[in-house]
Formats: sequence, C-alpha cells, structure tokens
Amino acid sequence: MDVTCLVTNPLVVVTNREPYIDEKIGSGIRTIQTAGGVVSALDPLLQEMGGDWIAWGSGSADRVTAPRGMREVPPKHPRYRLHRVFLSPSEEQGYYTHYANQGLWPLSHMLVERARFSRRAWPIYRAVNQKFARAAAATSVPGAWVFSHDYQLALLPAQLRTMRPDVAIAHFWHIPWPAFPVFRLCPQYQEILRGLLGADVLGFQTSDDVDAFLHAAHRTLKAPVDFDAGHIVWEGRPVHVRAIPISVDFDAIESLVRHPRIARWTGGIRRKLARRDRILGISVDRADYTKGIVPRLQGIREFFQRYPERRGQVTFLQIVVPTRSEVQEYRNLYHQVEEETRRLNREFGDDDWTPVITIRRHIDRARLMGLFRAADFGLVSSLFDGMNLVAKEFVAAQIEGRGVLLLSESAGAANELADAFPINPLDAEGFASTLHEALNIPPAERHARMERMREHVQQHTIYDWLQSILLALSEVSAAYARE
Ligand code: UDP
Repeated sequence: MDVTCLVTNPLVVVTNREPYIDEKIGSGIRTIQTAGGVVSALDPLLQEMGGDWIAWGSGSADRVTAPRGMREVPPKHPRYRLHRVFLSPSEEQGYYTHYANQGLWPLSHMLVERARFSRRAWPIYRAVNQKFARAAAATSVPGAWVFSHDYQLALLPAQLRTMRPDVAIAHFWHIPWPAFPVFRLCPQYQEILRGLLGADVLGFQTSDDVDAFLHAAHRTLKAPVDFDAGHIVWEGRPVHVRAIPISVDFDAIESLVRHPRIARWTGGIRRKLARRDRILGISVDRADYTKGIVPRLQGIREFFQRYPERRGQVTFLQIVVPTRSEVQEYRNLYHQVEEETRRLNREFGDDDWTPVITIRRHIDRARLMGLFRAADFGLVSSLFDGMNLVAKEFVAAQIEGRGVLLLSESAGAANELADAFPINPLDAEGFASTLHEALNIPPAERHARMERMREHVQQHTIYDWLQSILLALSEVSAAYARE
C-alpha cells in the first residue's frame, strides 16, 4: 500500500528510540537500524518523502556521527534528517529508567504493585519531554505534521503546542491505557492527561483504551466528551481520540518466509521434527513481567502433568530476550524464568527430550519468521499487552496454515484474532486444557482458523495503521486552514 500521496505536509516523527543507532565497535563505528513496527513503517515513508525524525541519541558513537545533534540517514543513501536529543546520565535515569519504565510502564499495564513514582524523577521527565518538544518546534516548518509516540513522551504534545500552535500533532500511545482507579495512582496523572491533550489526534490500540482515556479526561478535567464520537473539547480545540490498532507488514513477512534460504532452513526444522514425531510450540518475548512468562511455564507444567502422553512429544521453544537490564526487577525476572525452566526440565525431561528449550538472545527477523512458519503452535501469554506484534507475525508467517495460536485475552491482538485459542495467563489448568484441545482439532479446522486470521492481518497491516493516522492529520490540517 502506498501512503505517500497522503503526506501533504512536511512530517516530523518523534520517538524515544532512534531508527539508526551508531555504536562504537573496537576502533570503528557500526550503524544499526533498530527493529520494531514503528521504524519499519515510518523509515520507508521518510526515505521516500524526506522529513525529520527526533529521538534520543542513545548509541555510544551517536555524538561522534552527529556532533551537532543532526545526521542524515540512512548512512549510505541519506534521505532524511535524524535529530538526536542527547541526555546526561541523570536525565536518562530520571526520564527513562525511573519515571517511564518504573512508573508509567507498570501502571499502564495495571501492575500497580510494581509501579514507583519518585518526586525526583518527575521534574526530569518533564524537562526531557521539553527538550524533545523544543527540538520538534525548531525542526517543524509552518503547518508541519508532528507524529509523536508513547509513554516516554506524554507531555510533549502540550509542550509543543505552546511553542508552535500552527502544527498538527498526532500522538500514538502504544501500551494499554489503565482504568481510572489505576491511572489515578500516578501522582502526576492530571499533568499526564493535560500533556496528551495537547495533541489533535490521540491514537490507542483498542476501543477499551479509548474508553478508559475518555473517562479519565471527563472525570479529572471535566472536559466535554462525546463518548460515541471519541471527541474531547479541550482549551477550545477538538481532540480526536481513536482506536487505531498497530499491525505488521504482512507481505514483507510472507516474502521473508518464502525466501529460498529461509524456506530451506524451515524445511530442515520440519524434517527433523517429523523424523522424531515431535510437535513444536514457540513463544517470543522480551524478558518483561508483563509478558506472563513465569505463569506460562506453570501452565506448561500443568499440561505435562495432566497429559503425560504428550511428554517426549511436545517441545516448547521460548525466546526470551534480555531487556531493561538497568532495572533490578528485570534482572530478577530473567533469573526466575531460568530457574523455573530448569526445574521443569528436570522434572519431566530425559536424555532424549528437553521439554522447554530457551534461546536467551535477540533473533534476527528472517529466522524468527522462519521459526514461526515451522511451528505447530504459538503461545502469547501476556498479563497485559498494548497489542503484541508477535501474535500477528506468527499468523502472517504461517503460510501453510499448519499452526494454532494460543493468545492471552489480555493482549490487544485478541480483539482482532478471533480464531486464536483464548487463554487466561493466570489459569494454569485452563491453559493446559486449551492447549490439549488446540492440539487435537482436525487439520482442516486448524487450517481454516489460520486462514481467517491471515486474511484479517493481510487486510489490516501496519500501512493501514499509518494511513489512518495520516488521514486524521490531514483532516486536522484542513480544519486549521479553514479557521
Ligand atoms: N523480536 C525480534 N527478535 C527477537 C525477539 C523479538 O525481532 O529475538 C521482535 C518481534 O518480532 C516483534 C517485536 O520484537 O516485532 C516485539 O514486539 P511486541 O509487540 O510483541 O512486544 P514488545 O516487545 O513491543 O512489548
């Protein structure tokens, strides 16, 4: 899908994470393109249209390649400008580690006992948002479109609006929006709301998130809200609040798994499994407590206890990618997962069969999609998850329609993938019986379910998401022009 025709005004993207990171490797510098849905959709668009991208310059060589903060990217064939916001160690701590990752992240995922808000971190979070906002204001030409992202930059829309009332601002909130009694536990919840309401368009993953946000704005700020239309009047301006679920590049995943190198590799895995009459399940997560990795291992234990005939046959491959290791809780979780896995393997495994195999590092995209294609079932067990792209990628990669997907009802993707087998990550017995049921359905039904999900993902790609945002921005621009 070509969305370039929708970009009628210069585009400025603002994210915490940059699309290109420069790292010192020995005496040289290596540029790494970061992965993820947002980069995969917006980088090609900016490459085509030109534009500006503002992000935290977090790479060890970022200052070397952009001494004044700006460098053109991609490095080999520059097409747009990357503006790096540099942070001191104390800014990084206050803004990123403390306020965003130890405060807003767990609270938004409704894990209230993990959330910590320090009075010291708040002014730093606000000041860093202001730094990003100043960079966006300086970069935006009159009437530009600014597309900012997520919980790290919740204050930016209002800060930017004060500096530049002429620009149209869309902000996308990638993680869940919590119910009001939970959100209220953030000591600065009013400021967070006011910050976001500086945008013209606010995007969320699901209609539940939209409802919760509208409710919070109504309760807290007494703003006039049209719940049906998803519309708030704030400081005399309309704010459009919409559910715009993020997705994946279906065609790119399909061509990746059909690539001869990956197809050969996948074929090899399938042959090995067939020789030994094995069934392969796969899960892929950052080692984050929101992903329900430990509860999933408890479900797997229950499955092998209840269905001993599956021992020696079903193997779970869990890819657990270390993440946010600067936060103690994340390091603890990683060890807990290792410990639980070891225990389970000792309890059920033998010389010939390991029930749970763990890969503890990031896997490149092509191989990951190959594994999804090869697997008999996929497992997503998040306690809460804004969307969970892995679920959609699994579906897109399943070109033979062989697999089934067990999907937590608490992941945003569950609203769309109705043919997945729903699981409750905290119900180990339920998980075991659902997996048993899923493995026993006839191949024709398995195939039909997967086909219906594939059709949905094919019709709702990352480009449809982007198109919705761009269309909303152009409506806002048109309204500004009429004023
Ligand atoms: N991913 C990857 N290699 C890995 C693990 C994960 O490329 O080894 C990708 C995965 O394919 C997906 C993203 O990381 O696109 C994770 O997104 P998701 O929405 O599932 O969870 P998040 O990590 O954003 O909470």
